[in-house]
Amino acid sequence: LVEITKVRKSFGATEVLKGITLTVEPGGVAVIVGPSGSGKSTLLRTINHLEKVDGGHISIDGTLVGYQVRGQRLHELREKDILKQRTEIGMVFQNFNLFPHFTALENVAEAPVVAQGRSKAEARRRGLELLDRVGLKDRADAYPRQLSGGQQQRVAIARALALDPKILLFDEPTSALDPELVNEVLDVIRELAKSGTTLVIVTHEMGFARDVADTVVFMDQGQIVEQGSPQQIFTSPQEPRTRSFFSKVT
Ligand code: ATP
Ligand code: MG
Repeated sequence: LVEITKVRKSFGATEVLKGITLTVEPGGVAVIVGPSGSGKSTLLRTINHLEKVDGGHISIDGTLVGYQVRGQRLHELREKDILKQRTEIGMVFQNFNLFPHFTALENVAEAPVVAQGRSKAEARRRGLELLDRVGLKDRADAYPRQLSGGQQQRVAIARALALDPKILLFDEPTSALDPELVNEVLDVIRELAKSGTTLVIVTHEMGFARDVADTVVFMDQGQIVEQGSPQQIFTSPQEPRTRSFFSKVT
């Protein structure tokens, strides 16, 4: 269960998140849509404490992200504890961010060894399973530069899954891909959604959002303007800003 409560974030004088409140149920899939600059990436980054919030808080399964309560006060976690917490929150970026000098399998098997102290053999065995799950078992020994963008992104998803995260965040996972490679990545994410992984996805792929989301969240100018089922948001949006946005993108 992800609970985002009244989260605020400013960069300098500009308030980029203006009190965001959002709950994602276990196994739920929240898809965030909205215009460029509305704060979608910033919101995702607050969930794993890559951005510190200026107000409000976020908790995952009842545990505060980035902070602990001591006495009556909130104290930021130590770097080591922040890193540990991040291993429970998977993130997949637009640009894959694979280690270029590691094979696909090494990319997937590295973190469980380093961050969770698993044995190399165990991490490799699990890594192969995960590569199989994203349809890339036969490319385990390929380096990122030998893989297509869609394949690299599927490796990145396998890598995120390798730490058994409580939740997986996607920031425009297909927007750097050639159009013909988009579906192979969306299909993997659809599969995760079906298997009950808790997902928060920022995307411009509206057809996909409609398919996969339990909740569609429309953000504009640092606020959630409207949220609801795909049916509600796509078919009968209540807010003028939501209607105007969808009339431009669909
Ligand atoms: P896009 O659809 O283009 O990815 P977005 O909804 O993800 O947009 P954000 O990247 O969250 O938007 O940015 C929201 C606002 O915050 C923008 O005005 C952006 O310029 C600003 N911003 C984001 N990160 C920083 C930063 N590190 N320093 C200063 N301003 C920032
Ligand atoms: Mg963004």
